[in-house]
Amino acid sequence: MDIDELAALVRTIPDFPKPGILFRDITTLLADAQGLSALVSGLAAIARPLDADIVVGIEARGFVLGAALAHALGLGFVPIRKPGKLPGKTVGIDYVLEYGTDRLELHEGQIGQGTRVLLVDDLIATGGTALAAAQLLREQGATLLLALFAIDLPDLGGRAALEADGVATAALLE
Ligand code: 5GP
Repeated sequence: MDIDELAALVRTIPDFPKPGILFRDITTLLADAQGLSALVSGLAAIARPLDADIVVGIEARGFVLGAALAHALGLGFVPIRKPGKLPGKTVGIDYVLEYGTDRLELHEGQIGQGTRVLLVDDLIATGGTALAAAQLLREQGATLLLALFAIDLPDLGGRAALEADGVATAALLE
C-alpha cells in the first residue's frame, strides 16, 4: 500500500470537536487490516535505525500506534496520560492550551536518566501536546531520539515548533 492509499483511509470530519475544525479521523485507517499494517511498518522503518530503548505514547491514539510500534520494534511501551489516570506515583507537566491549561503525567521511574526514547502520537497539529511531553521526558533525563507521528498538519506549525525546541520530528503523512 502506498502513501496516497494510506492517506485515503484517513477520514476528515468537519466541525469536530468544535465548529470550524477539520478533524482527521484515523479510526478508519486503524480498522483496515492492510492500512494498519502499512502504517505500523512505515513508522517502524523510520524508527528502527534509531536504536531506542522504549516507545512512549501519548493518550489516547498514541497508545494504539505506540504499542503496535513497540511490538514491531521488539521494545516495551510506556504511556503518557491525562491527569489522574495512572495508578502509581507520577511526575507531570502543566501546559497552556488555547483556552486554559492541561496536564500530562508519567509513572515515576519508568523513564530514567539516559533512556533513549521514541515518542509517538497519531497526529501533530500546533505541537503543544508533543512539546509538553518532550519537556516532561527531558525532565526525567531521557534522551529523546525522535517524536514520530502518523500525520503532520504542517500549516499549524507543530513540527517547526518541536524542531525549534531541538526535538527531531518525523511523520508518515501530511
Ligand atoms: P496539538 O497539541 O499538536 O495541537 O494537537 C495534537 C493532539 O491533539 C494529539 O494528541 C492528537 O491526537 C490530537 N488532535 C488534534 N487534532 C487532531 C485531529 O484532527 N485528528 C486527530 N486524530 N487527533 C487530533
